[in-house]
Amino acid sequence: MASPMGRLLTVNDTFGEYPPSYYAATADRPEPLPSVAGQLSCDVCVIGGGYTGLSAALHLAEQGADTVLVEAHRIGWGASGRNGGQLGSGQRRSQTELERRLGVDHARQLWEIAEAAKRLVKALIERHRIDCDLKPGAIHADHRARFVADTHRYVEKLRAEYGYEQIEPLSREEIRGHLGTDCYHGGTIDRGAAHLHPLNYALGLGRAARAAGVRVFERCPVLGYTAGAGCRVRCANGHVDADAVIIACNGYLERLGAGAGDRTMPINNYIIATEPLPEEFARELIRDDVAVSDSKFVINYYRLSADRRLLFGGGESYRYTFPRDIKSFVRPHMLAIYPQLADTKIDYGWGGTLAVTRSRLPCFGHLAHNVLIAGGYSGHGVGMATIAGQILAETIDGSTARMEIMERIRSRPFPGGRWLRWPLLAMAMTYYSLRDRF
Ligand SMILES: Cc1cc2nc3c(=O)[nH]c(=O)nc-3n(C[C@H](O)[C@H](O)[C@H](O)COP(=O)(O)OP(=O)(O)OC[C@H]3O[C@@H](n4cnc5c(N)ncnc54)[C@H](O)[C@@H]3O)c2cc1C
Repeated sequence: MASPMGRLLTVNDTFGEYPPSYYAATADRPEPLPSVAGQLSCDVCVIGGGYTGLSAALHLAEQGADTVLVEAHRIGWGASGRNGGQLGSGQRRSQTELERRLGVDHARQLWEIAEAAKRLVKALIERHRIDCDLKPGAIHADHRARFVADTHRYVEKLRAEYGYEQIEPLSREEIRGHLGTDCYHGGTIDRGAAHLHPLNYALGLGRAARAAGVRVFERCPVLGYTAGAGCRVRCANGHVDADAVIIACNGYLERLGAGAGDRTMPINNYIIATEPLPEEFARELIRDDVAVSDSKFVINYYRLSADRRLLFGGGESYRYTFPRDIKSFVRPHMLAIYPQLADTKIDYGWGGTLAVTRSRLPCFGHLAHNVLIAGGYSGHGVGMATIAGQILAETIDGSTARMEIMERIRSRPFPGGRWLRWPLLAMAMTYYSLRDRF
């Protein structure tokens, strides 16, 4: 019999258990919470316990709403507990591109929201004393000499037109001073960006939400919902009646997002963690302990952990299932940048599912007047998913200005409908990722 749960919720993982990641091995993990049993009532039911859902629930409770959060597995089990931990500036597309596509005013509003997202993450960490190894700084590294002039022009634009002075250009010599590799021709350093332990951040948001009064349920996949004057959210052993519902399932959305699901596409991405490196060796790789991401279509992104492992993300796949041996899948990408790690042991390898949109900009919307959804952060969700939760919460409270800015983005659906969109995307992405090699 087909599982009533979405396939992506189970196909690569064990029910109710965190993946075998470095993050899960080093997180401050609480005991599992009970699942929904019988009938519950509340003002708002949030489905999904990643940054979007946790931030929505926390902000709703702070606004005085009686809030229930239902998570299929564990808090931070999804992309929020598995990602590269990079808190970047701006949206996933440059301001130059946003201005061209959406007009200067809308582009500026999206920049302001992205800046507010970074501030919000840092403020939540401070206010709720979340111990998640937050560190400043991120380098963007150009793997083609011809990209560097444009990158440096973009720095000038952000400084001159957006008043963003925390970003500086890096020449080839300067980036070579930061990173122990000859792969890059230049880039930028952004001291307003940051990196963190993503699962500890999610768990900290979970603790804050519960302390604010949110009733959190785990190991409890939502099977469906009905919307009307009131909403009913169905689980295996009970249901939640609510005035409003927030759907915060992102890459794992599948059938729950009918009406919005064809605007986002799940994609799997992978990370490995080396054994802890001697201090001097680690500083040779990344001198100032900043996060790094490069200009490849299938981005390489990496940073050092608090115990000086290199956490390296690279390689993407456009199939439902993860590769059988993730360590061997990602390691060549790491060695292409850092051949000096050839003899270094890989202790962990894991994958996660994120959601992308065609525009690579987030997808916010109403599925009914009292059912809200946000997702499709396209690999830029540490900040954007956190602020999405705040925006969804304030929308339910009647402040709709930022929701309207986000809803105006209008991502187009992926072609191919439910069955063909994945193979079509796979073909397109494979084509672009091949271009990285030439
Ligand atoms: C490998 C990887 C690396 C990444 N690196 C970065 C990075 O460095 N920087 C960055 O900004 N972003 C990065 N991202 C993206 C970022 O992690 C996501 O955008 C962000 O975590 C999305 O948060 P979310 O809460 O919307 O979704 P998720 O964290 O995926 O949470 C969704 C939750 O919904 C639950 N759910 C789904 N269906 C149901 C259901 N039917 N019933 C109940 N619960 C359900 C799932 O179990 C899951 O816990 C990365 C993602 C991956 C996978």
